Amino acid sequence: MYEGVVQDLIDELGRLPGIGPKSAQRIAFHLLRADPEEVARLTTVLTEVKATIRFCTRCGNVAQGELCRICSDPRRDQTKICVVEEPKDVVAVERTREFRGTYHVLGGAISPMDGVGPEDLSIRELLLRLADDTVTELIIATDPNIQGEATATYISRSLRGTGLNITRLASGLPVGGDLEYADEVTLGRAFEGRRPMHE
Ligand code: ZN
Repeated sequence: MYEGVVQDLIDELGRLPGIGPKSAQRIAFHLLRADPEEVARLTTVLTEVKATIRFCTRCGNVAQGELCRICSDPRRDQTKICVVEEPKDVVAVERTREFRGTYHVLGGAISPMDGVGPEDLSIRELLLRLADDTVTELIIATDPNIQGEATATYISRSLRGTGLNITRLASGLPVGGDLEYADEVTLGRAFEGRRPMHE
């Protein structure tokens, strides 16, 4: 335990995802030793990102305005939606250049152990987007792990009988992994080889 504001800094950093107590301490002491300008840049960008970036009201991706860059692009194919867990997965799929449709960002995956149920994700918003029959194919690109599979199954079951073409990325992605860690070629191939989901 450190005194006052130093401990507050360590505590705040430790609340960030993927940062354990040791890393929090290391980052805190890095910041204490850093040039004031370096810290000022970090403070500025943190304030700026919270002030200007929001989430797209249609798809949940990060956006500077009401809609994200992809939703506001008229050249994107509105008949296809690729469902992903996080905005970083949109970036991963975009890198493959295999997909010209739009996205839907769920905000996570179903994980009963972490207390995350379907109602905690933007699944209801997704179903609303599908209601007007513009969309003909739904490509489920959740992570190739247990939570991602559970989420894909849940969505596909919720849409049973709608006649919508629901596909899942082909295998070949590293099982148990995270979509963002797949290289562009592997992810691109998984996209091309996507298969209908069977219930
Ligand atoms: Zn969007």
